Amino acid sequence: MIIDSHGHYTTAPKKYTDFHFELVGAASEGRSLAGMRPADVSDDEIRESLEDAQLRMQRERGTDITIFSPKAAGMSHHLGDISVSTRWAEASNDLIARVCELYPKNFVGAAQLPQSDGAGVDAAVRELRRAVNDLGFIGCNVNPDPSGGYWSGTPLTDKSWYPLWEAMVELDVPGMIHVSKSCNPNFHTTGGHYIAGDTTAFVQLMQSTLFDDFPTLRLIIPHGGGAVPYHWGRYRGLALDSGLSDLEEGVMKNVYFDTCVYHEPGLRLLTDVVPTRNIIFASEMVGAVRGCDPRTGRHFDDTKTYIDALELDAEARGAIFQGNAMRVFPRLQAALSEN
Ligand SMILES: [Zn+2]
Repeated sequence: MIIDSHGHYTTAPKKYTDFHFELVGAASEGRSLAGMRPADVSDDEIRESLEDAQLRMQRERGTDITIFSPKAAGMSHHLGDISVSTRWAEASNDLIARVCELYPKNFVGAAQLPQSDGAGVDAAVRELRRAVNDLGFIGCNVNPDPSGGYWSGTPLTDKSWYPLWEAMVELDVPGMIHVSKSCNPNFHTTGGHYIAGDTTAFVQLMQSTLFDDFPTLRLIIPHGGGAVPYHWGRYRGLALDSGLSDLEEGVMKNVYFDTCVYHEPGLRLLTDVVPTRNIIFASEMVGAVRGCDPRTGRHFDDTKTYIDALELDAEARGAIFQGNAMRVFPRLQAALSEN
């Protein structure tokens, strides 16, 4: 079985996702959000939005199940306040739950959390519990920068985040550290902000004692770990200079990188440098880069073909495509057997 651990509902019906802007508009005019609901979307409209996109790509590429979350840039935690983010996260997760209900063999849910700069994590904890306990989700996306590119909040290792880590440990779900849209014109969302966010989050975790406090917490850094694998020597050196454990005995006991790296040499580097047990297959389709590489004729985000081309033994291949995800997402096994 091939588990794609990172997919977003980027093709969700627009009339539904417009709900976010309706909430933002209402809040800015001081109107009550109570009673506001997203537009009705039929099961057929959901099917249509997926059939010629994620589902076709799963079939064509030979992947089996996608851990599916709301569109990452669409979380846009910088818009509105925590009441807007809460209603928007609930609506987004409800839609993912319908996708998983319609296609239980193809998708399993990961939650968007309500976050807002300076608002704490209480709302995120509540929605995480609802998503896991009521909707059957198996993970969540955690935005390390709800300000949208200004990084005005606290690092992930600050005590203000601890109630969220406690809830994730208790529920036994991992988090993908995933920024959202950049509203800072210095940072292109998927080209600059995403990769910088991945790298920044890794360094925050590396420098901290977070995993001494939460030894079973599991966090995934997407997009191949940002710039970290390429600069592995720098981070090992920084860790050792600071009197920390080497990465493999330290931060990498709890941190995983996915394979959303859109060329074969990049994935070769990832698998050469980072221990196999820390690498989880993912493509992030349909996502940041949608076109075909004119040199290969294949989609940039068809990451399975790059891994297929690597000289990995069967054990490493099995771990990357399936075994590591089963370990990091313990609730996946139950979700699969229910279906
Ligand atoms: Zn993503």
